[in-house]
Amino acid sequence: MNEHSGRTIDDFRVMKLTEKTIAFPTTKLLPGAKATEAGADELVVSVHSWLIESKGKKIIVDTGIGNHKQRAQAVFNDQNSDFLERLESAGFGRNQVTHVLLTHLHGDHVGWNTLLERGRWVPTFPKATYVMPRASIDHLRGNSDDPLMPLYLDSIEPVISSGQAVLIQPGEEPLEGFQYVSTPGHSRDHCSIILRTPDRTCLFAGDIMHHPVQVQHPELNSVFCASPEMAQLSRHKMLAFAADTRSLYFSSHFAETSVGEVTRSNENFRWTFV
Ligand SMILES: [Zn+2]
Repeated sequence: MNEHSGRTIDDFRVMKLTEKTIAFPTTKLLPGAKATEAGADELVVSVHSWLIESKGKKIIVDTGIGNHKQRAQAVFNDQNSDFLERLESAGFGRNQVTHVLLTHLHGDHVGWNTLLERGRWVPTFPKATYVMPRASIDHLRGNSDDPLMPLYLDSIEPVISSGQAVLIQPGEEPLEGFQYVSTPGHSRDHCSIILRTPDRTCLFAGDIMHHPVQVQHPELNSVFCASPEMAQLSRHKMLAFAADTRSLYFSSHFAETSVGEVTRSNENFRWTFV
C-alpha cells in the first residue's frame, strides 16, 4: 500500500504513516520463539500511525514515538523525525485533526500527542479530542513513582490540562462506528478498536501482536507484554474475532502493508497480507 494513497472501506479512507522501522533479534522480541517458528534471526517491527478520513473527520489511531521525548529505550529516545511534515502532506495538518484514538499508553503510541514548544509540551493537535482508556490514567494519578510517569507528564497530562482528553471504558463508542474493547495483557488496560462499516469490520488491535509469526503461534508473547497469560488470552480472543468476522486487521507493528486477514481451520490461525 502506498502510504498516502491508502484504501477505502465504505465511507472511510485509511492510510498508514510510518515513523520508523526497527529490526529486533528474534529471541529479543519474542523470547519464547524458536528459530524455526519465526523463520528468521531478525524480525522487523514497524512503528506507524493509522490515518482515517470519513465525513469531514480526520482521525489518528495511535501517535507513535514523537520528537525530543526522553525515553529509557534507546530506539525511542530523543527522536527528531519529519513525521509531522509528512502527516501534513498526507492531508492531516495540525489544525485539521479532529480525533486521536489511543489503544494504550506506551511510548510508541502516544508520542505525537504533544510537541515541544518554547520548552513546554503542548498538544500537537489543538482542535482534536484525544480518546484514551481511563484505567491507566487512574492508575498513574495514584502512583507517582510508576515508570510511565515521565510519559504521562510529557504526552498525556498536557492534553488533559487543555481539556481535550476523553477517558473511556471498554465497550464505549467514542465516535460513531468506533468501539473500544478490552484486550488486556500487553498493558493493564490495553484496548483494541473495532470499526464497523456497512460492508466490513476493521480491527485496530494495538499491541496484541508485534509480528505475523504470532498469528500462527499465538502462544508467543513479546518481550513487552506485561501480563503473559492475559496477553495470550487477549491475542487468542481477537484472532478468533478477526477470523470469524472476516475483519480487515490493521496492525500496529507488522511491516509490509501492515494490513491483513486472519483465517482459521480448527484452532490454527493463518495470516495473509492484503
Ligand atoms: Zn507498540
